[in-house]
Amino acid sequence: MHLLERIDSWSVTRPERAAHISGDAVLTYQQLTSQSNQLAHYLLNNLPHDRAPIALVGHKQSEMLIGFLGCLKAGHSYIPLDASLPAQRIEAIVQTANATLLTVDELKAILPGVKLPENFTACPLEPDDAWYIIFTSGSTGTPKGVTITRHNLENFIEWILAEQKFEEAQEIFLNQAPFSFDLSVMDLYSSLATGGTLFSLEKEEMVEPKKLYAALAKSQLTVWVSTPSFARLCLMDPHFNESLLPQVRKFWFCGETLAPEIAALLLERFPKAEVWNTYGPTEATVATTSIQITNEVIEKYRPLPVGRAKPGTRVEIHTPEGKPAPGGERGEMIIAGENVSVGYFNQAELSSKAFFQMDGQRAYHTGDWGHIRDGLIFFDGRMDFQIKLNGYRIEIGDIEANLHALPNVRDAVVLLTLKNERADYLTAFVILKDPGAQTDFELMRAMKKQLGERLPEYMLPRKFIFLSGFPTTPNGKVDRKKLAETLA
Ligand code: AMP
Repeated sequence: MHLLERIDSWSVTRPERAAHISGDAVLTYQQLTSQSNQLAHYLLNNLPHDRAPIALVGHKQSEMLIGFLGCLKAGHSYIPLDASLPAQRIEAIVQTANATLLTVDELKAILPGVKLPENFTACPLEPDDAWYIIFTSGSTGTPKGVTITRHNLENFIEWILAEQKFEEAQEIFLNQAPFSFDLSVMDLYSSLATGGTLFSLEKEEMVEPKKLYAALAKSQLTVWVSTPSFARLCLMDPHFNESLLPQVRKFWFCGETLAPEIAALLLERFPKAEVWNTYGPTEATVATTSIQITNEVIEKYRPLPVGRAKPGTRVEIHTPEGKPAPGGERGEMIIAGENVSVGYFNQAELSSKAFFQMDGQRAYHTGDWGHIRDGLIFFDGRMDFQIKLNGYRIEIGDIEANLHALPNVRDAVVLLTLKNERADYLTAFVILKDPGAQTDFELMRAMKKQLGERLPEYMLPRKFIFLSGFPTTPNGKVDRKKLAETLA
């Protein structure tokens, strides 16, 4: 498969079909191809031909799609960044990747002035060339960029197309996740590869139920792609049912635990639709395992399985010594195969810790506990301080490192509070250098503002508790368990 050629082919066979809808804006396949060619031509004339990544900053605008393909056709990979990220975070990413920054507004200003020559040819993109670099939270406080090559992505898409059997030039896919998260890769490229329409929800539509339901009602969605957290939110409203989305025939999840009650409620409210659970880290190109969740599966397994590994990829369960765990026992999930990333961009040391060779295949330490039963893989939680909150991947260490970097912080610990066994909110315990005369409320407001200049909103603790010291364990470490008890 050559994914870029496949996408462009729709501009010939279905030029007027909508490739992307966002709010009132519609981008056709013909426009996507011609405008991404224009952008590529501009970039080829204005940037060194060094394949250095381009950081694209925007939200859900169609220009993001034009930007992704335009960068690739000019021989550059892209780093999708949501414009809601604080400037400091964007700056850190751009520096780590040594990237050129391009905003949607700049792109909009560039396009009208570019005249495409008739003999325009895109820069060839080899299978080992990077396609995108997605940055995820890093435990040291600096995000790390997962490099996904053309081969990684095409391998993933080939599997998806074979398994999910989408109708060509028929489907309408929901795009809920911002493009800076790899869940969006699942809807974006499944859609573009099959001549589908990507229907993006804008930020305001996701937080205001009235706007959300109005958008969904006009969407004609056939494939729902979101985090389970977002589906849970929608299901709180009884109107979220088959009458709202009469054409939907698949709910396709990835990124966090799919609770059996959510799957069961979806099957009840959308009797004609299938529900799928898929699992995988960004480091192994979106998803590695999958399973259709039927009522039989829900009855038999709680928690739900994440399924079987995709063809050509292995998921093994390893003991701490790196040996395959005896049948059924819990261990670390190791992923090996062609979907495993070449590593973290410009971060060789981090890469060498997480990635390795296993029987001649590229392999990744997921840091996820798992076990295998009845030939099915089960996710059993994290081995470290990485969490999922409202579907977002967060390293607790990232928040703590950024708290430590604030001028008045002597020490800080962040804890996740669970409600009904689900991630609910974060609390920061902080020891100040100088508590001053401010009330705790004033201190919290000031600290949230300072932290908000460094971290995205979804990483900000809801509660701040100011202490003069932390309880410690007998070996002198902060006793997180005791701290958690103070919240009960
Ligand atoms: P991300 O890189 O944002 O996709 O996050 C990857 C991590 O999310 C995995 O390592 C798991 O900890 C978690 N995860 C992904 N998919 C699932 C799933 N279906 N069920 C449970 N956890 C999941």
